[in-house]
Amino acid sequence: MSGYSIVPYTIAFANEIVTDPIGFVPYAGRMRLSYVPSRPGDWVDPYGARLGSVGGILRARVRDLRDRLDQRGPERMRKLNTRRQWRSMGKLLCQVCGGPAADPRNGLIPWTVTKTVFERTGLDSGRTNAPPTCWSCIPKALEECPMLREDFAVYTVAEVRSVGVLADLYRPGVLRALEFMGRNVFVGWNDFQRHPYALAVAQVVELHGMKLLSP
Ligand SMILES: [Zn+2]
Repeated sequence: MSGYSIVPYTIAFANEIVTDPIGFVPYAGRMRLSYVPSRPGDWVDPYGARLGSVGGILRARVRDLRDRLDQRGPERMRKLNTRRQWRSMGKLLCQVCGGPAADPRNGLIPWTVTKTVFERTGLDSGRTNAPPTCWSCIPKALEECPMLREDFAVYTVAEVRSVGVLADLYRPGVLRALEFMGRNVFVGWNDFQRHPYALAVAQVVELHGMKLLSP
């Protein structure tokens, strides 16, 4: 799997993975998922209370050791670093090189889309948890990742909106403190009823003004 000459920006390294304990704790009159002990920066909530969220969504803790070659350990090619994935989506950074992905000539963002990480929401829009890939990295990504080559399309994207997260869902258990309910479930920022049960592992955005590039 690891055919990359450079490890892609959003891929996690072994020593970045954090396994701090989580549990349900009282908050604002109900129970919510929390690291134990918690830190104020554990929750993400880009729209605040405007959409009805109380306290946001717990985000998976992870270290960022990408630049610490002596400490980061081997790459985990199937695992994303939640922090860098989040930053890539928020700042529209290329998931391979970590540089700005938008085309400086026209402001459009090149986006390589594969079926497994894309869900169409309209004629020229769709949701994804895969960050963009800049023009100069697209050939390299195709060359080095056979999975991508089998099923992909390149679009240009005019506008990007954060719409939610991919999360592991839990609920308070009767016998155990925590019951696992599902992995990689989409939870929208407006789906605030589920926010207390979610551990966000990736940010999901909606792409608008998508134009398919002719091959
Ligand atoms: Zn790039």
